[in-house]
Amino acid sequence: MNLNRFPRHALTFGPSPIHPLKRLSAHLGGKVELFAKREDCNSGLAFGGNKTRKLEYLIPEALAEQCDTLVSIGGIQSNQTRQVAAVAAHLGMKCVLVQENWVNYSDAVYDRVGNIEMSRILGADVRLDAAGFDIGIRPSWQQALDDVRRAGGKPFPIPAGCSEHRLGGLGFVGFAEEVRAQEASLGFRFDYIVVCSVTGSTQAGMVVGFAADGRADRVIGIDASAKPAQTRAQILRIAQNTAELVALGRAITDQDVVLDTRFGGPEYGLPSEGTLEAIRLCARQEGMLTDPVYEGKSMHAMIEMVRQGEFPAGSKVLYAHLGGVPALNAYSFLFRNG
Ligand code: PLP
Repeated sequence: MNLNRFPRHALTFGPSPIHPLKRLSAHLGGKVELFAKREDCNSGLAFGGNKTRKLEYLIPEALAEQCDTLVSIGGIQSNQTRQVAAVAAHLGMKCVLVQENWVNYSDAVYDRVGNIEMSRILGADVRLDAAGFDIGIRPSWQQALDDVRRAGGKPFPIPAGCSEHRLGGLGFVGFAEEVRAQEASLGFRFDYIVVCSVTGSTQAGMVVGFAADGRADRVIGIDASAKPAQTRAQILRIAQNTAELVALGRAITDQDVVLDTRFGGPEYGLPSEGTLEAIRLCARQEGMLTDPVYEGKSMHAMIEMVRQGEFPAGSKVLYAHLGGVPALNAYSFLFRNG
C-alpha cells in the first residue's frame, strides 16, 4: 500500500490525539477500555473535523488545476461546508456553498447559528436550497458550478462529504496509518474502531487502511443516514476504488464492511432518546461533547454495545470522534433543560 505518492496539503495540526475515556469506561462496568481519537479538534481551521483530513488530499488537485473557487454542498447545518469555507479562506480562494433542507427539524434560528453562521463569517457565498436529503449529486450543485464559470471563475467541485471524489477515501487511509504509529508508542493495538457513517468515505478509507493489518472488519461503522442500504453500498464502492488507488494488494469485499443499522433513527438529522442520553452521559463523564446528527449516534452505539456485552471483556475500543459539535447550537430546544 502506498499513500505517500499522493500529494498532501497540510490543513490539520498533525496526528490527532488519542486519549482514554476512563470515567465513561468505569461507568459502563470497566470490562471494556474506551479511547477517543479527536478528529473534532484536528485543525485550527474553524474547529476542523473529518472533512479537513479528507481535504488534505483534494486541495493539491485544486491548486494544480489553478481553481479559484471551492464549491460544495450539504445540509443547512453541514459540517463539510463549514470546513470547506474555512479551507477556502485559509488558501485565499472563494467559496460557494449549496445548503439544502436535509433535516426535518426546526429550532429557533436553525439556519442562522452553528455551522452556517460560521460559513457566512468565513466569507462563503451561502445559498439555501429547498431540496431534501440525498447523498448523491444534485442539480443545485451543478447550477452553482455553472454560475462560477459564467462569472469567469474556475470552480473546484467538492461533493457531499468529499465522498464521490476519486481521492475522498485517502484521508482516512492516512488515519489508519496514524493510529498504527500511535499504537506503537502506546504499546498496544485497538481491537475495534467505532465510526459514524453517512456519505461513506470516512469508513471506506478506514476499511482500506486497517485492511493492511487484517482489521478491516474491526472498523464498526454506525449508520447515521437512516438510509443504510445506500450508505453501505457507497462505503463498499469507495473502499474498493480507494483500495485500487493505493495498491492495497487485495480486493475489498462485502465482508470487510461492517455497518450497524440500529442507531441511525428516527431519521437523518433527528436524534432518538438514546442519542440524547448518550450525548449527556459522555459530556458528564468525560467533558467531551458530541452532536445529535452524527457523533451522538455513534456514541450511543458504542455505549449500548458495551452495556449489552457485545465487545469481549478486555477489548480496547477506539471511538473516532469526527467533529460536528458546532451543530449543537441549532438544537438548543432539545437541551433547554440540560
Ligand atoms: N461525523 C460528522 C461530524 C460528520 O460531519 C460526518 C459527515 O457526513 C460524518 C460523521 C460521516 O462521515 P461520512 O460522510 O464520511 O460517512
